[in-house]
Amino acid sequence: MHKEPIIGIDLGTTNSCAAIVEDSGNVKLIPYKGGEYTIPSIFAIDDKGNELIGFEAKRQWQLNPRNTVYGSKRLVGVNYSSEVVGTMKKAVAYNMRAGTKNDVTLDVGKKEFSLQEISAKILGKIRDVASNYLKTPIKRAVVTVPAYFNDRQRQSVKDAGKLIDLEVVRIINEPTAAALAYGVGKTLKEKVVIYDLGGGTFDVSIIEIRDRVFEVKATGGDVFLGGIDFDNAIIHHVLKDFAAKTGIDLATDPVAMQRIKDLAERTKIDLSAREEVPFNIPFITMTAQGQPLNIEMKFTRKMLEQLTNQLVDRTLQMVARVLVDSGLSTKDIDEVMLVGGQTRMPVVQDRLTKFFGKPPSKGVHPDEAVAIGAALYAHSLEDNTNLRIQLLDVIPMAIGLERGDGGFHVVFPRNASIPNAKQLLATTSIDNQTELAMRIYQGDHDTVARNDLLGEFTFSGIMPAKAGTVNVEIIFDVSVEGILTMRAKDPATGREMKTTVRVTQS
Ligand code: AMP
Repeated sequence: MHKEPIIGIDLGTTNSCAAIVEDSGNVKLIPYKGGEYTIPSIFAIDDKGNELIGFEAKRQWQLNPRNTVYGSKRLVGVNYSSEVVGTMKKAVAYNMRAGTKNDVTLDVGKKEFSLQEISAKILGKIRDVASNYLKTPIKRAVVTVPAYFNDRQRQSVKDAGKLIDLEVVRIINEPTAAALAYGVGKTLKEKVVIYDLGGGTFDVSIIEIRDRVFEVKATGGDVFLGGIDFDNAIIHHVLKDFAAKTGIDLATDPVAMQRIKDLAERTKIDLSAREEVPFNIPFITMTAQGQPLNIEMKFTRKMLEQLTNQLVDRTLQMVARVLVDSGLSTKDIDEVMLVGGQTRMPVVQDRLTKFFGKPPSKGVHPDEAVAIGAALYAHSLEDNTNLRIQLLDVIPMAIGLERGDGGFHVVFPRNASIPNAKQLLATTSIDNQTELAMRIYQGDHDTVARNDLLGEFTFSGIMPAKAGTVNVEIIFDVSVEGILTMRAKDPATGREMKTTVRVTQS
């Protein structure tokens, strides 16, 4: 029997946070050095080769942009060749290149890091902070991921835990965790929308709460839509303005870019409270003649709204789709809950008020709800718990296999409930075939080329026979965490076949 507590960890794109349910039954956020409850999800190596994580990494990022990694959660499980990597490359100063599986590898302080290793560094820091604070070694955690993470991205978080000997006992979805923070202990009967716009990702889930039962009706999102994109809108505007005035492109100067990025985020945040904010950076660069140049601009809330209008539109289009998927209409929704720092932008709240015909609720703390929900769920998994929570979640995108013509044969549709299992009967196509291979994808497109490859599964040990005369029963299992495993059986004998998986990203 385990005695060590299980903590809840919100491993965010920009900030991470941990919480625990204490013996008294109260949920407590774990403070860092007495004060802050969130730790920047930033990893760096300084010029002496020291590894810095969290605030220590953030403090030096203006001076050391090439060896400071932030926002890397957006790259987890992404193919190096995908469009989003190109977009990220323009926005960050650290170096990315193709890894052995066509994944993304980072170079930091002359060393090579996989994205799992970066996630592991941040998880490790949170674990150490928690262990120090709680004065007990922490070995197990519930970790949250964006609802819109696919199988591969979820698996990657589990693998990151393994690297530092932290057992990720359960992965749960961020909006689902926020719903737990809102609903546990309140005896509710409500349908809620969780609108989660964080630093790097956007998720929306519609969840029906019936006391301790949390049933996700539908979910949707975009792992490439978040606060960073709002910052980038300001940055692009500043670069364009500066180039128009001086003919100088600051995008090629990493230190200047880092200063602009810093001020862009601060300006965006200030504009949530004020109508107008100056944007001044002295000595940003020099003319060819050696004369110093400054950035002297101002931003109004209206300007920011115009620059980011399309981003907010995209979130609302997704909200509309998820409502349709859930079979509900706006009037069926009891509460709209805001999660993620970017939801503090007033126009986001105004647009949601218009959409739902009522203002969003202030029922949860936007930065802390996810970690609190994760801690509550963690507590419900402990051996000596008296907290019972039933989570009924869904998969965010369809899972299926490649057809001969490159089409996508859906096995689990989008929003299929999990855990879930399906069987499929396959047969051989050539005489004496002893192996059967299939490529499994996840995504919402009709052609597999536009979806994500989860792996190539090979089932071996088929009895040699004439083509089409032997059957193979393929079993697809999606766990409560949204992770797929596959098995195959000979239906005649019931014997399990050997299954091998190759995950080479195409
Ligand atoms: P999270 O991942 O939930 O910590 O969200 C962080 C994102 O929220 C970052 O992009 C922040 O810049 C953004 N953010 C935090 N506070 C505010 C604010 N008051 N107004 C607008 N955006 C904010």
